[in-house]
Amino acid sequence: MLTTGPRGTKDILPETVNNWRYIENTAREICRLFGYQEIRTPIFEHTELFLRGIGETTDIVEKEMYTFNDRGDRSITLRPENTAAVVRSFLEHKLYADSQPTKLFYIGPMFRYDRPQAGRFRQFHQFGIEALSAKGPAIDAEIIILAAQFLEELGLKDLKLYINSVGCPKCRPVYRTKLQDHLRKNLADFCPDCQSRFERNPMRVLDCKNQRCGELSQGAPEMVDCLCDDCKQHFEGLKQLLTIAGVDFKLNSRLVRGLDYYTKTAFEIQYEPLGAQSAVCGGGRYDGLVAECGGDETPGIGFAIGMERVLLALEKQSLLPSVDNKLSAFVVALGASAQPVSFKLLCELRKRGITSDMDFMNRSLKAQMKLANKCLACYVAIIGEDEAAQGKVMLKNMTSGEQELLDFDQALNKLKAEMGE
Ligand SMILES: [Zn+2]
Ligand SMILES: [Zn+2]
Repeated sequence: MLTTGPRGTKDILPETVNNWRYIENTAREICRLFGYQEIRTPIFEHTELFLRGIGETTDIVEKEMYTFNDRGDRSITLRPENTAAVVRSFLEHKLYADSQPTKLFYIGPMFRYDRPQAGRFRQFHQFGIEALSAKGPAIDAEIIILAAQFLEELGLKDLKLYINSVGCPKCRPVYRTKLQDHLRKNLADFCPDCQSRFERNPMRVLDCKNQRCGELSQGAPEMVDCLCDDCKQHFEGLKQLLTIAGVDFKLNSRLVRGLDYYTKTAFEIQYEPLGAQSAVCGGGRYDGLVAECGGDETPGIGFAIGMERVLLALEKQSLLPSVDNKLSAFVVALGASAQPVSFKLLCELRKRGITSDMDFMNRSLKAQMKLANKCLACYVAIIGEDEAAQGKVMLKNMTSGEQELLDFDQALNKLKAEMGE
């Protein structure tokens, strides 16, 4: 127990942390390009926020939340996603009073008590966008393009974008009845999950992963055929803007979202080489959420991208950049009296912005040189007892093998000139 992390968690070790930074930096750069600002909310919130903001009948809330009472006996939940928390922050800090829309992004860990499997963790990471207050389809198109550009920037090709409209509280009930009429004929043959969804959330039957359910719901009526004028206009507007921007998309009527506050646009970006886990980005409009969380009616739209899946995809395609861990200088100290002088040289190098290191394990000369090689040091600065006494250093170029005896300052200037950042 003491030397094993909890199930579903993963340490990100130094050898892979650069991959994470690469993805995060790419995300930050894209967001800067598109005018989205970073927000960092706490990793835990009042449980009530997620009950309202995600919905009490969802799998997340029913089965997957890390919920506990704190010492003050308040119910606290580790965030299973971040949209509700961003909306809470938007309301708490009256961000709606600034010029609108509010365009935010976040990067960070989320927590779900889920069965761990390949690429799926109980602590996982998401990069997400939330755009609040804008109701027209242009912002929908903008965030879809942002997501696609992010994934393309990382080098992923052949991404598939699927879009759908899930309607609104005005047109959805009509569709819901039509859908139920269609499903009722074979209801007994659907999986138990679908049978319970039939009453409370029949649209979710359409995205059941059970193959038999998929076959049974073939030919079901589609939401896009039942949209009210407002929803239809919005959807047409989105398609037009994506076309103008040169973004390929396909309609997928099975792209549904369960809850009432989800409205109009739903989208997903898939990267097919990932197989069963091919969805790398999912998002959509939630015009009813801000009111659900206690604010005034405010439209909103967002997406979340699973960082673990993106990392998996980049690994699969060998798209992760190689890391430049080169050291400019390695200081080698020989003998006790050389130690303090060598340490002084190391400090001076670092003050000048020159990446440098030395041995801290009392190694022999041979072992220190070996270590310098392992660190890919461009120069080795050797200080023996004689050099220490004279204030000199033997500077060896590890590529050419040339070496010269220099004064401290000469050595520092030379390294600064050649290696300084
Ligand atoms: Zn509608
Ligand atoms: Zn089913």
